[in-house]
Parts: sequence; structure tokens; C-alpha cells
Amino acid sequence: MIASIARYHQQLQSGTVNCLQTVEYFIAEINSKKHLNAFTEVYADEAISRAIALDEKRAKGLPTGKLHGVVIAIKDVICYKGKKVSAASNILKDFESVYHATAVQRLLDEDAIIIGSCNCDEFAMGSTSENSAYGKVLNALDETRVPGGSSGGSAVAVQANLCMLSLGSDTGGSVRQPADFCGIIGIKPTYGYISRYGLIAYASSFDQIGVFGRHIDDVALALQVMGGEDDFDSTAIPGKTAPLMELNTSNQLKLIAHHSDKKYRIAYFDAAINHPLLDHEIAAQINQTLAALKSEGHQVDAVPFDLLEYVVPAYYVLTTAEASSNLSRFDGVRYGHRTPHAVSDLTDFYKKSRSEGFGAEVQRRIMLGTFVLSAGYFDAYFSKAQQVRRLLVNQMEEIFKNFDLILLPTSPATAFKVGEKTTDPVAMYLADIYTVFANLTGIPAISIPLYKHSNGMPFGLQILANKHAELLLLQISNHLLQSHSTKMS
Ligand code: GLN
Repeated sequence: MIASIARYHQQLQSGTVNCLQTVEYFIAEINSKKHLNAFTEVYADEAISRAIALDEKRAKGLPTGKLHGVVIAIKDVICYKGKKVSAASNILKDFESVYHATAVQRLLDEDAIIIGSCNCDEFAMGSTSENSAYGKVLNALDETRVPGGSSGGSAVAVQANLCMLSLGSDTGGSVRQPADFCGIIGIKPTYGYISRYGLIAYASSFDQIGVFGRHIDDVALALQVMGGEDDFDSTAIPGKTAPLMELNTSNQLKLIAHHSDKKYRIAYFDAAINHPLLDHEIAAQINQTLAALKSEGHQVDAVPFDLLEYVVPAYYVLTTAEASSNLSRFDGVRYGHRTPHAVSDLTDFYKKSRSEGFGAEVQRRIMLGTFVLSAGYFDAYFSKAQQVRRLLVNQMEEIFKNFDLILLPTSPATAFKVGEKTTDPVAMYLADIYTVFANLTGIPAISIPLYKHSNGMPFGLQILANKHAELLLLQISNHLLQSHSTKMS
């Protein structure tokens, strides 16, 4: 398994490895696993020259950044200046980023190496990474299965050891669900924690950049580096984000430790654990974890959650509405694809360019969104869904008056077989039942790889916390991962 950043930094210091060797190793791994289709582009030359420059900087004894030499991949919806960014769509084919996303800039400022961009569902719409103009991504643990979506390429990049960390975007679960399907960590921080500047918009009031990794300390460090206010995104949380890291006695950056005897107040939703869509083994494993936490002295209580059946409909009404507006800028005039065919007038030009450029799922969502915003249906759908969102926020605030954390499954099933859900979009949407709550309410959530199903696939536990409680989320995750690994060993 790829070493943690702290361990890697020790190795760099002692000279057992350098940045160039590390980059070369990952490029070789990427090349040997091309069939997984995790990357849309590998920035090989840039990564190599950056690695050489970083090795020279270290050799000269100059100060090094917190992510010195850390090899990171980014989802193909995040801008890297001078490189293509397409949202895995033909409509943005060959479009080049004209600036770095704020998240990318902050990683680079701390000496990270961006190794390339990762495949995903078109415009981050999907749960399998099959809706891509570049073709589907395969799950490295079982190539007959999908890696989840929409950030499937980013998840596989970490899962298959093609980089140390990767970025995804999470509008309704697109970091947590692929993390669950691939057996790695995926975190979506509080809405606004990381600037959305340079992230191609899907549904702006839901979109949030998130991180995939194998080690809690690593994802925490990446969050810390990227988080905080940004003049280019007015929805970014003002000021600095709360500290997540501290230096330990060996001068390594570690997650701020919690008291080992700290007791948490943990809620779970009966309606979620007993849901008919939930796989029995997943329910049983999560129940065991709840019981284990209780026996450790934590308070663990079921809380009623009558709104569960409304979360997916509300999410799809609101996100498609926002998407139909956000995606109207892709008109064949300003970006990417422009129809090569004869057109009769401007409307015909727009229609042809957009019909040729967008894939089926994106077209479905634009039409759905346009419908729910149309004058005759606005009140029945859009306003109703907004009211549901308000009720969910109220309920979330109530819950966090009495609890620190909510535990949920991440997904009702383990990784789907390739093609299993593609003919039934509603079945695909319903599988988002456990992840969209965090986006509708803006709270942080993480999926941690704790379990293995009898079908051989991994799955995760989802933990949610109140807004701005990333530290707590990461601390409990550390605790659960550590106690789990001692149990397994
Ligand atoms: N599966 C969800 C959807 O299709 C989540 C997407 C996302 O978070 N980007 O909308």
C-alpha cells in the first residue's frame, strides 16, 4: 500500500526515495493499468519536471511545502491551467483551462505534484462513471463492476495505486459513494469549505470538492491546505477553516488527537437501517458497529427520520433545475463543440450543437430541470422541493442539538455490475438515498472503508457531522479505522 504523506516525507528526508522516482513509479503504474480508464490525461512531462525541481529545492535546503512531492490526481471537472478540462463531455472536447482552480493552486503552493485528470460521469451526473465521453471506468478490485460515480476515475486512481491522493466533486455523493465501492476513504467537507472557483458547475448550491485517500492524516492535510475563503467564490466559508493538523513529537503533521476516553453522542436513522433497498449484510455490519460503539460507552440512539423518502426526489428536482441553468452556457458559441452540420437559423444551431455535444443522461437532466422550472410546474416541483430542503435543514439542526454524529450506510449495495443500472435511471437515482442528505443540508460527510461483503467487494460506513465539524468527523474515522484494523489483525 502507498505510504502515508508523513512516512513519504521521512523517506524523502532520509534519501531512500526522491520525487522523480515517485512520479516515475506512478506513471509506470498508470501505463500498466490503462485499461481501467481512470485517467483522461496524464500530465507526465509537467509532473516529471516539477519532481526534478522539487528534488533540487530539497537538496538546496530550501523550505518545503506541506504537500512536498505528494502526487495528486484531479477529476476532469477541475481546472488546471493549460490542460484540457472536459467534464468527460463532447461539448467541451479540447477545451483548455485558462486558470488553475483555487483548490489546485493551493495544492501547488504547498509543493504538490498534479499527475493528471481523472475520468468521471459527464458533468458529474451519475453513480457509475459509465456516462463518460471517454468510455467507462472499471473497478480495479473486480473489473466486471463499476467503481461508482461520478468521481469514479479519481477513486480508482487511489484504489489502484496510481497516485497518493485525488480530488473529486460531491454534489450528491460523488466522492463518498465511489470511495465506498472502491474500498478507500472519501470525504466531502461542509458546503463552502473548499472554493468552487475552477470547478465546472453541476448544481451550484450542492457542489463541493472532496478528497480520496488511504490515510486519514493525508486527506485531513489536503483539506487543510485547500480550505478557506476565496475572493473568487462568494459561497466559500469566510475566514480560515479550523485547524485539523498538529505537529507530533517527531515533527510530523498529524490529525489533532482527541482524548482517547472521549464519548460521542451518535444518532442513526431507523428508517435508513431498515430500508427495503438496503442489502442485508450492509445493515448487519453497520448494526454491529453501532453496538460496538455503544459497548465502548458512546451514546448511540435511533432518531426518527420521516423525510427519508423525500430526499432523492428533492435532490433530483433541485439539482436538475440548477444544472439546466448552469449548462445553458454550453451553446456551441462560447466553448468546445460546435455543430459541423448545415443549420437553418440560430435556434437550429444551438439545438444541433447541444444535441451532438451532450450525452443522454445530461440531456435527460437538462430537460427535467427545464420542466420543473417551467411556469406551469414551478410551484408543484421546484418550490415544493425547496420546502423539503428547508425541512431537512431544520431537522438536521434539531438532531445536532442532541448529537455529535450521524451514522448511515454510504450506499444501499456494493459496487454494481457494469451495465446493471444503465437502463433504469430511476433505480440509479434511488441508490443515492444515503448520500444526498449531506448535500441538501450542506453538512460534511465521510465514507470510510470498514467492511467486506461476502461477494468479495468492500463497502464503507458513512459518518455525518454538523457544519464545520470536519475535525470531529476525521477523529472518529481514525478511531473506527484503527479499532477495526486491530480487530482484523
Ligand atoms: N449520483 C448523484 C447524481 O447522479 C451524485 C452526483 C454527484 O455527486 N456529482 O447526481
